[in-house]
Amino acid sequence: MSLKVRYADGSIREVTDPSEALEIYRHSTSHLMAAAVSSLFPGTHLGIGPAISDGFFYDFQRDESFVEDDLPRIEERMRELVQKDLQYEPSIITKQEAIDYFSRQGEHLKVELIQEKAGETLSCYRLGDLIDFCTGPHVYSTGRIHPESFQVSSIAGSYWKGDERNQRLQRIHGTAFLTPEDLKSYLSQLEEAKKRDHRKLGRELDLFSISEEAGPGLIFWHPKGTRVRVVVEDFLRQEITRRGYEMVATPHVARNTLWKTSGHYDYYRDNMYVFNIDDEEFVIKPMNCPGHIQIYKSRLRSYRDLPLRFAEFGTVYRYEKSGVLHGMLRVRGFTQDDAHLFCTREQVLDEISSLLDLVLFVLRSFGFDQYKIELSVRAPDKKESYAGTEEDWEMAEGALIEAMRAKAMEWTRMEGEAVFYGPKIDVKLIDAIGRPWQLSTVQFDFTLPKRFDLRYIGPDGQSHQPVMLHRALLGSVERFMGVLIEHYAGAFPIWLAPVQVRVIPIAERHQEYGRQVVSRLRETGVRVELDDRNEKMGFKIREAQTQKVPYMLVVGDKEAQSGQVAVRNRFEGDEGPQPLESFIEKIREFIEARSVRP
Ligand SMILES: [Zn+2]
Ligand SMILES: [Zn+2]
Repeated sequence: MSLKVRYADGSIREVTDPSEALEIYRHSTSHLMAAAVSSLFPGTHLGIGPAISDGFFYDFQRDESFVEDDLPRIEERMRELVQKDLQYEPSIITKQEAIDYFSRQGEHLKVELIQEKAGETLSCYRLGDLIDFCTGPHVYSTGRIHPESFQVSSIAGSYWKGDERNQRLQRIHGTAFLTPEDLKSYLSQLEEAKKRDHRKLGRELDLFSISEEAGPGLIFWHPKGTRVRVVVEDFLRQEITRRGYEMVATPHVARNTLWKTSGHYDYYRDNMYVFNIDDEEFVIKPMNCPGHIQIYKSRLRSYRDLPLRFAEFGTVYRYEKSGVLHGMLRVRGFTQDDAHLFCTREQVLDEISSLLDLVLFVLRSFGFDQYKIELSVRAPDKKESYAGTEEDWEMAEGALIEAMRAKAMEWTRMEGEAVFYGPKIDVKLIDAIGRPWQLSTVQFDFTLPKRFDLRYIGPDGQSHQPVMLHRALLGSVERFMGVLIEHYAGAFPIWLAPVQVRVIPIAERHQEYGRQVVSRLRETGVRVELDDRNEKMGFKIREAQTQKVPYMLVVGDKEAQSGQVAVRNRFEGDEGPQPLESFIEKIREFIEARSVRP
């Protein structure tokens, strides 16, 4: 399908690239929304209205507040304007003409944008009665926007140019798709995502919270959330130790000199928590790399010591604007499952290869079977703006590609997406409802070994610089937990579930036996609870279901007499009575095999 698009100079083109078409369509819909808002609410001033990843928004300046009830009215007016089939009429005018026009209209935000723009002329678009300053392109006319393909969804506060020191604006969000069917499937995915929202489930399942008193973006892990976290961390620690990593621990605070050497003090300052004490400046670590480098540098290294693989569940703090914080997914304090590998050039390929094995093993263990791999490399036309030599980049890229080829992996090459200090592989998993999440990353670093002057003595007796790799499997424990919750809609696999078994005595006289069952299970390492409340059986079972407990063991007279338990699992319902010991054997097997379900 293609989209007929008109550019500022009046030229018309059929856009066939679906993502380009969608962006233009959404941006055109945002103008349509601005036109509807202007006609419904005279005196409203316009900010900007870009297309974004899930739709579009427009920022407005208006003395009164928009309310929820305005949204359907705006949508209706947009449909009326669609019926009128208004053209998005472009015109090129001089900068001065534009400033005069928008000043007369009282559109001071537009005037500011125009004044910042270089060049003598600029393009404007007329849509019905509304003239907007925009470079375009747009769809040819409003009739090209299907009346059932968009939705005006929400109102939020915003600031002019996203800066908190600027004027407050009101942002209206909407979404649009090229066809009504696409919109429909997006809305149903959204509905599904809402049910899985980790913030909602985190509260209902008592996993974590965020405290207003402590500040935004800081996660408080409750006992049940921490149980899951401990299982995740223990699993990883055991797995990487088996694969030749050494666990290390590094301080949370260091002198600014460390961060000056690493470069963070100059390039990352805005995201760091910096404070003074005893007339000295300190930094709360935003990254673990300089810490691991200190351990590397603590003694003279020989090629016989390499590769060195230092791993840490390193808690870091990074300042993020409060507007972008989101539950556990975007936070200010988090714990990375971080590691740094130091090796010789000859060892690089083997290291990458076993790293990729580890990444896939870990993702599969958590039940993620679908993923996308991206190889980020330099922008071919800007090679000089990257750190490292031509030889460095060739060696690194070559090793990444060779390792992926050897495993018959498929990847997308992302030109210009590499960070300036080296190429990387990112693994994005696809969750149960098709959403991609960026978790694992393997990154070369050509700058830190130089900045810290890392050396080892080679077999030739000479001093050499080791290759350094950063790698994270989960990214951060917080973010991973958020993804796990949403992927499983809170119903964790048996081996991860915060409560694996709930024992439910039928009547009060069965509580004693219930307690025996609980302590026997606990002895074998199963996470178990007793529901000894004075409630009806049906209520207790329903509640265990909503708490997503994998197994319920109902115990009454018969079970107490025969040392049995009546087993019910969350997935298939009743399994019937069985001896406690054989249930224990079975669940232990599931846990050890890291089964998602029986
Ligand atoms: Zn525009
Ligand atoms: Zn690092």
